[in-house]
Amino acid sequence: MRFHKAESAFFVFIAMVFGAGVTLLASYGVMRRNTHLLHSGGFDEFTLLLFVTGVLLATAITFGMFFIYPLIRTQVEEEGKLRAMTESLSARSETLEYAAYTDSLTGTHNRRYFDDALEEYLREFGRIQRPVGLIVLDLDHFKQINDGYGHDVGDEVLRQVAACLQELMRHHDVVARLGGEEFAIIAPNMTEHGLAFLGERVRAAVSALVLDIGDLRVGVSTSVGVAIWDGEENAEAFYRRADRMLYRAKRMGRNRVCA
Ligand code: GH3
Ligand code: MG
Ligand code: MG
Repeated sequence: MRFHKAESAFFVFIAMVFGAGVTLLASYGVMRRNTHLLHSGGFDEFTLLLFVTGVLLATAITFGMFFIYPLIRTQVEEEGKLRAMTESLSARSETLEYAAYTDSLTGTHNRRYFDDALEEYLREFGRIQRPVGLIVLDLDHFKQINDGYGHDVGDEVLRQVAACLQELMRHHDVVARLGGEEFAIIAPNMTEHGLAFLGERVRAAVSALVLDIGDLRVGVSTSVGVAIWDGEENAEAFYRRADRMLYRAKRMGRNRVCA
């Protein structure tokens, strides 16, 4: 077993204090045996033992102050630095994880989070045999907003649509931006009728958005596809089915819900 420097120093310290104790006891014994000599002055053995005790204690105190204490101090400082480093590393990895699952433009979840969440929701809600609903939406003629007002206005529209969707959702629903001007909402534990109703609320809320951007008033609409999980299909097939509903809504003239 290897001892750390501070541990060895501590053992030396203890040995010196122990030695001082032993010599002190010995001097006491000598003193008891020869009290008569003490009064006649100059008793060599006793003085020597007391002297050794004094030397040992002085060495122990010096050693402790100038060697052990600085060692402990350095270790405490190093530990502090290490802890700060670990904390900043774990904060960094949390930030990275947050970034990996968050859409940087709108602050909603991103596609990656959506894919993971959909699989997990199907697994968990499938186990307790509860329904899982999916709403997929794509803004209508969004390219015209970009072309007509500029990309920054387009970005602001995306941010406000995302905020509007988040406001409509319950806390266990998942809102994600899948890319471009396409969003999705996973809404578990909801009947087919309830989901169609929620899809219509989403459509109406987005169409009602009027964005005051400088002197401009920009409106936007969205087409919505809605599907309820059939309990059998995997996440990808489920998403594709909701997406087909969305494209049916586009084909039927946009700004509508297809379920
Ligand atoms: P549709 O009704 O058929 O969906 O028409 P659309 O114009 O919305 O669809 P299209 O796919 O033709 O255009 C989507 C546009 O979205 C094109 C692209 O420049 C724009 N876009 C994608 N990502 C962003 C983004 O992050 N910011 C902005 N401002 N625009 C984006
Ligand atoms: Mg679009
Ligand atoms: Mg699109």
